Amino acid sequence: MPNKNGSDMSPLPINPPEAGSLVALADDLYWMRFTLPFRLNHINLYAFDTKDGWLLLDCGINSEAIANQWAMMLKGPLAGRPICGIIVSHYHADHVGYAGNLAKITSAPVYMGAVEHEQASWGLAQSDEHAGGLLAKTYARFGLSDGVVNRVRQEGNYYRKLAGDLPDVTIIEASQQFETKSGCWLARFDTGHSPGHMSLSDFDRKLHICVDFLLPRISPNISVSLRSIELDMLGHYYKYLSQMLSLDNEWLVIPGHDWPYFGGGIRAAELIEHHNSRLELLRDAASNAGPVSTADAMKVLFAFDLTDHELYFASCEARAHLNHLVARDEMRIEQVAGIDYFHNN
Ligand SMILES: [Zn+2]
Repeated sequence: MPNKNGSDMSPLPINPPEAGSLVALADDLYWMRFTLPFRLNHINLYAFDTKDGWLLLDCGINSEAIANQWAMMLKGPLAGRPICGIIVSHYHADHVGYAGNLAKITSAPVYMGAVEHEQASWGLAQSDEHAGGLLAKTYARFGLSDGVVNRVRQEGNYYRKLAGDLPDVTIIEASQQFETKSGCWLARFDTGHSPGHMSLSDFDRKLHICVDFLLPRISPNISVSLRSIELDMLGHYYKYLSQMLSLDNEWLVIPGHDWPYFGGGIRAAELIEHHNSRLELLRDAASNAGPVSTADAMKVLFAFDLTDHELYFASCEARAHLNHLVARDEMRIEQVAGIDYFHNN
């Protein structure tokens, strides 16, 4: 299905799949959409047609609603042929959460990159007490209020509420190729939205399944992990985006949320500009009001009411931006009374 719109970013002119149904994106690639109980209210999952059966990409969270949606697919359009594999792109609960149950139901092998597998294993292994304590300690360093810090300490392991036990996993590397009926998909791994996120490309047909790295509508969340809050995740993401600038408009970009589209290079440029402007806002805030904490930076970047689920992503994203300014030597960090403050250099 060639791009008709020349040089603009344009959605593929196809409606998203209805519940329990598939939409063909290529003769061996099918799009499924499951609902999620968040502001981002759905996830796109994919099924590849291979000589051995269906090869699935991503799973949804571990919930009854997702279980029901998989049951509909497995009894419906995917029935009659075996599930020959399950690829998990990254450790976020909406992608890996139901992998263990899906592997049990289908007996299919699960493929995952080593970094994401380790991150998911770490997230699931935290006791409620340790997970709550780590989040509380991190939020205190961010400068969030005592009320929030004390509330999250009681919350326990939030990741575990959304992600079930991991299945046995076959670890794959960047040279891994998946053969499907009409093509061959090469895996690549990037750091940014998560530490070792997998995307898949069929170069002959110019199809790039970007999963969560090059979304058409929203800016992918770029966050520090609670394990390493000083890492420059945004610096890594800029590297991915700069490589995607060369995606010409013949490429169909196929994301984990919203809709497939042409114009991945244009979208990469937009996202670079988006993050540049966020960095500018933080530099302005620090010059107008003095050093900023991560909580101050979060209020600058996300000026709306946040649920606890959103507070986590917003504060960790604000911190990733501050860290990038430190990495660029445009800010420096000083700790006062246990709170990290960022000063312009
Ligand atoms: Zn994600």
